This record gives sequence, structure tokens and C-alpha cells, in this order.
Amino acid sequence: MNKFCYSCSAPLEMSEFKGPSENYCKYCTDEQGNLKSRDEIKTGIVEWLKTWQPGLDQEKAQVRAEYFMKAMPAWAE
Ligand SMILES: [Zn+2]
Repeated sequence: MNKFCYSCSAPLEMSEFKGPSENYCKYCTDEQGNLKSRDEIKTGIVEWLKTWQPGLDQEKAQVRAEYFMKAMPAWAE
């Protein structure tokens, strides 16, 4: 079964995303494999959304990042 990052859904079978952690991609963890803070991850997702949609304004991107994170096992409440 394919594994995806619990924090951002990046495919962990790709070396581009594989990091020191079993459950998270390298962008979501520090060099020791510890999950970064919620704020850091959110900032990263906002930037990622804006690269896909250059016209997206900051406020909308933040709302979308919140929705996205609610669907992820690491951030679901
Ligand atoms: Zn990730």
C-alpha cells in the first residue's frame, strides 16, 4: 500500500518527499524526523496552494489550508 504523509498527503514512496520519519514527509519534519508545529505546516500549505493558483489571495489560501489540514490525520481534531 502506498503511504502518504499524515500531515500534508505527500507520497512517501517518492524519494523527493521521503525523510527521516516513517509517517511524515521531509518537508513536515525537522532533521530528526519530528513533526513541525501546526503554524509552520500551515504556512507551507498556504505557499503550496498559491503556487498552484497564483491569483489566490492570502486570506482565501489560509482558509483553504485550514480545510486541507482538517482532512489530515496529523491535524484532524
Ligand atoms: Zn508532509
